[in-house]
Amino acid sequence: MPTYTAPTDELDFVLFDVFDAESLWASLPAFRGVNRELVRAILEAAANLAEQEFFPLNQIGDAEGSRWIDGEVRTPPGFRDAYEAFTGGGWLGIAGEKQYGGQGMPKMLTVAWEEMFYAANTGLFLYTSLTAGACILLAAHASDELKRLCLPKLYEGRWSATMDLTEPQAGSDLGIITTKAEPRGDGIYAITGSKIFITSGEHDLTENILHLVLAKLPDAPAGSRGISLFLVPKFLINDDGTLGERNAVTSASLEKKMGIRGSATSAMRYEGATGLLIGEENRGLAAMFTMMNYERLSIGIQGLGIAEVAYQNARDYARERLQGRAPTGPELEGSPADPIIVHPDVRRMLLAQKAYNEGCRAFAVYVGSQLDLARHGDDDARRQAADRVALLTPVAKAFLSDRGFENAVLAQQVLGGHGYIRESGLEQYVRDARIAQIYEGTNGIQAMDLIERKVIRDGGRACHEFCAEMRADLSGAKGATKEAAVEAIALLESVTALLVKKSKNDPALAGASAVDYMDLFGHVVLAWLWLKMVDAAKKRGADAGRSGDKRKTAEFYFAKLLPKVDALARSIRAGSKPVMGLSPERF
Ligand SMILES: Cc1cc2nc3c(=O)[nH]c(=O)nc-3n(C[C@H](O)[C@H](O)[C@H](O)COP(=O)(O)OP(=O)(O)OC[C@H]3O[C@@H](n4cnc5c(N)ncnc54)[C@H](O)[C@@H]3O)c2cc1C
Repeated sequence: MPTYTAPTDELDFVLFDVFDAESLWASLPAFRGVNRELVRAILEAAANLAEQEFFPLNQIGDAEGSRWIDGEVRTPPGFRDAYEAFTGGGWLGIAGEKQYGGQGMPKMLTVAWEEMFYAANTGLFLYTSLTAGACILLAAHASDELKRLCLPKLYEGRWSATMDLTEPQAGSDLGIITTKAEPRGDGIYAITGSKIFITSGEHDLTENILHLVLAKLPDAPAGSRGISLFLVPKFLINDDGTLGERNAVTSASLEKKMGIRGSATSAMRYEGATGLLIGEENRGLAAMFTMMNYERLSIGIQGLGIAEVAYQNARDYARERLQGRAPTGPELEGSPADPIIVHPDVRRMLLAQKAYNEGCRAFAVYVGSQLDLARHGDDDARRQAADRVALLTPVAKAFLSDRGFENAVLAQQVLGGHGYIRESGLEQYVRDARIAQIYEGTNGIQAMDLIERKVIRDGGRACHEFCAEMRADLSGAKGATKEAAVEAIALLESVTALLVKKSKNDPALAGASAVDYMDLFGHVVLAWLWLKMVDAAKKRGADAGRSGDKRKTAEFYFAKLLPKVDALARSIRAGSKPVMGLSPERF
């Protein structure tokens, strides 16, 4: 049976020692009064809920799955109580708008506790995380009347929300959706069509489900410029907030999936369902991106959470499992063998997980800090942070979820054959981590978003500014690791300049280099963050153990993981020809 301990101390260290969250919050009027003591108490409460209520249901959720019965969906045993414990604790509204019953806490904090719930039970946590994203969308784009009717109920968790984009013929390419919206007057539309793969599309945890649906008006322009966004409630909402008739939106079936089996993934049918326009006609995709950007960071954190729980179990196993002897001779006298953690290859696997997880945790919290600044900073800070969020969101989604899956596989490998057996729990982590690389836009699409829209489109400006900031931030550091980080930043700038220049004459270059570029980018950011963590641990002084651990883990990162950037840069410089040479029929 797997175990899980939420990394509360690590999160506290990243928030306050690495990023000095207290000073940041003190500088933003929206967060005055939020301090370390309060946040520590919140993190401990989250850890308790994740460990005690969510985690014990993780294997049950996987074994039982969600069940579809005549259009209704039954979630696995225990999910309802755990969901109520979560929503009853006010967690859904923690970063929400104060005037609608939210608590207005920083995004940086929610990033920290989200990791714990994904680690403890991703299948269950998904019922809440889409609601949190929908709240951000509605707060930004819905009418005051809709906000008044919906946000308090969503924050309380009495209602939940979904994101309905994908159709059988339209996944990555939303410009070709065919769901129709016929105007009926008064801002009401009749929605007709089918969606597939809708997370939490139907379930038994809430009184109502609000579907945020992309559809096209009859006279809409072709492609993504003709998409509108509608709120389609499962039960219609009366003016006084009570629930009215059942709307014509139903779950046609549940998908049978490789992982996250506790999460109900529905095919949805809309048969002239009542939909309310959100934002302007034909500008729905832009509004939907408010939610998608939130969800993308969240899905990266999903990868991190699963990687962390997988790592903890691999580490504990490696300390206990006795096989073979240490290369320097027996370490456990009187025992037939040494624990496998003595073997360099096992240490390599564990250190790779530890170095990536801790680096990715700092990455997620940094993006959270930029989201807070983009919303609550002064004009200059807002502009700069918005740029940073746009640049880093695809990296946070793809780099963290790629590491999430790879680390889950490494953790499974540490357990040998036992990792392949269900009881260990590791094979579930591998299956559950896989989806984060695929949904919310595949990691290939994230890489294209980074290279085309965030880097090439502005001639590399936002990337260059970020590199300059990382370099300036390292000015106080010393030694070989600093030199390696500065070299890695220069490498990122040099391949960026090359891609900006050459893509003008080579339309396939961006696509052929995108995933390598994304990977290189992520590794460089982690190099910067590892130096920040080493520095912060040193300054904390009293905790000498942590300081030594951080320094040694950073040494591993710089010696064994960061060198991958050289191979990635070589591959990028090889251009598009090797990728595009073979004609489709010769595959
Ligand atoms: C369990 C689960 C839950 C989901 N939950 C939701 C949800 O709640 N709401 C929702 O709307 N959707 C949801 N999805 C759908 C998910 O977001 C899509 O599956 C995903 O975006 C990819 O779309 P697709 O499956 O149609 O693949 P396709 O778009 O057909 O892509 C197939 C392959 O081609 C590549 N590709 C496609 N176009 C390009 C391009 N232009 N350049 C380079 N490569 C390209 C892709 O990267 C991928 O490797 C969910 C999916 C699953 C499996």
